[in-house]
Amino acid sequence: MDTLTTRYEQVLQRITKAAQHAGRNPANITLVSVTKTWPAETVLAAYETGMRHFGENRPEELGEKRPFIESTLGTDNGITWHLIGTLQSRKTRLAAEHADVFHALDRSKIAARLSEQAGDFQRRLPIFLEVNVSGEMSKSGFSAHNWENDATQQAKLRTMVQAVMDMPHLELVGLMTMAPWDVPENEIRTVFRRTRELAGWLETAVSGLTLPYLSMGMTDDFEIAIAEGATHVRVGRAIFGSRHT
Ligand SMILES: *Cc1c(COP(=O)(O)O)cnc(C)c1O
Repeated sequence: MDTLTTRYEQVLQRITKAAQHAGRNPANITLVSVTKTWPAETVLAAYETGMRHFGENRPEELGEKRPFIESTLGTDNGITWHLIGTLQSRKTRLAAEHADVFHALDRSKIAARLSEQAGDFQRRLPIFLEVNVSGEMSKSGFSAHNWENDATQQAKLRTMVQAVMDMPHLELVGLMTMAPWDVPENEIRTVFRRTRELAGWLETAVSGLTLPYLSMGMTDDFEIAIAEGATHVRVGRAIFGSRHT
């Protein structure tokens, strides 16, 4: 077997093991294969091994790769394209046109533009709200580092959630978070657990809201994320190796 197939199968096995260990059904966990910086040929090779969920962090790159892949495989290829990176407002149109799911909504201005532009393409875009639970300055996302105790943070999160729910061309499906780097495993675990708890709290605090999905976990921490309830893990290096730049 070639390297890509071997690595993919190893990641699938690790997901299965982590899910079983947590008493969860592995079928409820979506592996998003992060192809950012890799050429479209790599995506095609990954498709051949069976991958169907691809993650890109830059809308320009998505806007080039997706049409290329569709010119080869057709539009009815079964691929779901996940845009996982922070979006600048001048790039929302590319996202509205090419993304099937957006994982990193971190500003209300972006939400309004995305909804309007998704409408132009007659689409309804599933959205994860990105939350910054660790409090690290370098992380994007809505402030949630003290959501359990801070009424202001709670109010802002509720208001944002309500605003997205009211947007006709967005469908709020869950929360996304990034764990801090270079910290002990228990701190990573705490960030994922608190994100899951925040989703649960929001469901009780905002009427009519369900947040079935949690996008959390990358190459270095996806097993911890699965133990804490992740439904979408975004894995690049473990599948494709260290990145081209
Ligand atoms: C690159 C990236 C990933 C994947 O990271 P790996 O460490 O390569 O698994 C996941 N999420 C986001 C938002 C990324 O930008």
